[in-house]
Amino acid sequence: MKFIRGMLEGNYNVKINVIEKNHSMLGSVLDDKGSSIIEQYMREKGINIIKQTTAVNLTQENRSITSVELSNGRLIPSDIVLVCIGIKPSVSFLQNETMLGKSGILVDSHLQTQINNIYAAGDVAQVPDPIFEKIPIFHPSWSHAKAHGRIAAANMIGGNKEYLSHIHLQKITFVDLGFISAGCFEPNKHNFPPNDKNRDLKIFQSTDPFLKEITKDETKNIQNSFLQYRKLIYDKEKLVGVLILGKLDSTYPIKRVKKWVKYLLLNQPQIAKHPQRMLRLDFSKFK
Ligand SMILES: Cc1cc2nc3c(=O)[nH]c(=O)nc-3n(C[C@H](O)[C@H](O)[C@H](O)COP(=O)(O)OP(=O)(O)OC[C@H]3O[C@@H](n4cnc5c(N)ncnc54)[C@H](O)[C@@H]3O)c2cc1C
Repeated sequence: MKFIRGMLEGNYNVKINVIEKNHSMLGSVLDDKGSSIIEQYMREKGINIIKQTTAVNLTQENRSITSVELSNGRLIPSDIVLVCIGIKPSVSFLQNETMLGKSGILVDSHLQTQINNIYAAGDVAQVPDPIFEKIPIFHPSWSHAKAHGRIAAANMIGGNKEYLSHIHLQKITFVDLGFISAGCFEPNKHNFPPNDKNRDLKIFQSTDPFLKEITKDETKNIQNSFLQYRKLIYDKEKLVGVLILGKLDSTYPIKRVKKWVKYLLLNQPQIAKHPQRMLRLDFSKFK
């Protein structure tokens, strides 16, 4: 996303093609509606998006790239190729399978594995998610890796520190759109949460005609000060997932909103129990 943004902002006058393996853009960090908003926005910026296809080969001439070959046989003429395909922990060296989770090494909130005195930290560690208690999550990011390292090191020399804020949260900006998705923002998707009869998940969404508004002519000054798609997931009374996607402006200070979303999920203050108020909450008034 940063590369595309750089290309657009630099006015390089290049044709950008995005090849996406799945049926939706950014599907691991957005729900389908969020993906379609981002997709439409990108298309309006002139970006060609090819979904449910993979790149299988690169062709070159005189040591320069000439095209990308897709799984359906199509050739996309290209001068520059950027490959972004995610992160996978390297755990093949481990003999002990009891240490392994779905995506890495299972640890407890002290960063200790199931074997005494063996710790794991960073991208490779699957830490319990405080929102869904013992369910381990894999969320590779620099800030988690740093915090893990500190806590594991302290515990290795006899400390008793816990990491209780490893929640699945991402903040991504694209030109003048930005979104935050955290916790269980899409109950039907991948890792959240396993079927459990005791859960009672409810979804609340803002009903603004956001998609239409956000993609209208940029030269028109959008007066609506609250142009956001919001989605909240509750498990009974507990807020367990948040998705906010909107125009980046003074009403949507995204860094601050990220801090508050994390606070709301981890601390469950009184306001978090009121979904209708949460849908209208003006984060720009928060410090
Ligand atoms: C292209 C890219 C962009 C990113 N951008 C961001 C970003 O904008 N913001 C953000 O928060 N995070 C970002 N990340 C993620 C961030 O870099 C990682 O979360 C962070 O580096 C994790 O630190 P780590 O120490 O766990 O793992 P790493 O930094 O991957 O270090 C692990 C080290 O272990 C070594 N190693 C692997 N196996 C073995 C073995 N068997 N024996 C010995 N050594 C081994 C590896 O060679 C490597 O040097 C990005 C990652 C990538 C790849």
